[in-house]
Amino acid sequence: MSVETQAWWYAAVRVLAAAALGVLVGWLLGNVWAGLAATLALYLGWHLATLYRLDRWLRHRSIADPPDARGLWGEVIAQVVRLHRRKRYHKQRFVQLLRQIDRSTAALPDGVVILDAGREIVWFNRTAARLLHLRRADIGLRIDNLLRQPAFARYLELGRFESPVIIQPDARFLSIQAVPYGEGQLLLLVRDVSRQMRLEEVRKDFVANASHELRSPLTVIAGYLETLAQDPTLDPGLQGPIAEMRRQAERMMTLIRDLLELSRIEASEEHVEGEPIDVPAMLALLRKDVLERPRHPREIRVHIDSAVRLIGVESEIHSAFANLVDNAAKYTPEDGTIELRWWADEDGCHFSVTDTGIGIPAEHIPRLTERFYRVDPGRSRETGGSGLGLSIVNHVLQRHGATLEIESTPGRGSTFTCHFPPERIAAGREENTVGV
Ligand code: ADP
Repeated sequence: MSVETQAWWYAAVRVLAAAALGVLVGWLLGNVWAGLAATLALYLGWHLATLYRLDRWLRHRSIADPPDARGLWGEVIAQVVRLHRRKRYHKQRFVQLLRQIDRSTAALPDGVVILDAGREIVWFNRTAARLLHLRRADIGLRIDNLLRQPAFARYLELGRFESPVIIQPDARFLSIQAVPYGEGQLLLLVRDVSRQMRLEEVRKDFVANASHELRSPLTVIAGYLETLAQDPTLDPGLQGPIAEMRRQAERMMTLIRDLLELSRIEASEEHVEGEPIDVPAMLALLRKDVLERPRHPREIRVHIDSAVRLIGVESEIHSAFANLVDNAAKYTPEDGTIELRWWADEDGCHFSVTDTGIGIPAEHIPRLTERFYRVDPGRSRETGGSGLGLSIVNHVLQRHGATLEIESTPGRGSTFTCHFPPERIAAGREENTVGV
């Protein structure tokens, strides 16, 4: 028999024994019922007294000791004490854990902010409070009402959280990386990147200044070389070296032009708006430029599947598209084909350049947009490439919220596609969509 069952048996036996005693005393005194009633009243009184002590202890359990009782009440009180101890232990552990989390997040060099699905602040650590000037009273408020930076608002709105956004709320530059979790909640990791940004600034300025300083002397050298090359009295033995010097000077001019272009794009804002651009007209001009080159692939086709206009900075878009077309022309033999395509769908508008040229091995594709990255440095130099073209393309596309997709098969050819989001389509022109 288990301990609990035993206690219940004892209690039942005790009630019966008390009742029997009551009946006996009542019988001896001449009233059985009065004897039984008096015994049961005493028994009930004892229960009530114990219940009262238990109730008083439960109300003051943090300072008083549990009441001393036997039998069933003793069992019940022992169980309550056990439950109470267990609860206190779990509570202490929980509080300890919370304190540890609080201390460790406070020690984090990065700011952490937790937002709910409505973008309202749920919690933040001390570093976030310092970097974003948040106060306790801001809990429950929308973060975009407190942090009024257009770049940050756009970042939250677009919901593309693969990379962080850089904002400058005061003298500091902050990088904010959003990490979605749960059902629409967001974790914001905030980091002070002022030092990196300043170093980057110095690097960009240095490249821009050095390129600028190199341009003038190089223009003079190239000019003299051209004059010399046209001189009919020039010693025939010098003609070869001078032609080579001209070619090298031309390459340096291209390099400096691309470096300056990249610095210019990098120096301006991260996101640009721009004006509606007539892409079909631009593609017709690009086609003409390729056909005017002394050597070019035989066939250059242009497919215009949509008349939508692209919203962007025309000079930059021209530079990006021209770089892609130029590459296709450079890396495609004369009996090859280049195809330019412009189309729109529910994902946005798209421009692609497909060539039947040498193609690119798969392992190089992820690195093509790095500065000075070349698959075959010898061939690139031969074709006058600076290794900066795709870097420029990538930068321009990023500033327009667009992405570059590269597909290629060595020996078969490549397709470079620029995907622009739907908000880049100029309003009011969709109905003009035509198949050309
Ligand atoms: P480059 O000025 O050397 O052409 P880019 O940045 O424009 O520099 O291109 C980087 C490298 O990518 C090139 O050196 C070349 O190896 C490769 N590449 C780019 N476009 C093509 C293409 N259409 N076909 C084959 N290879 C290409």
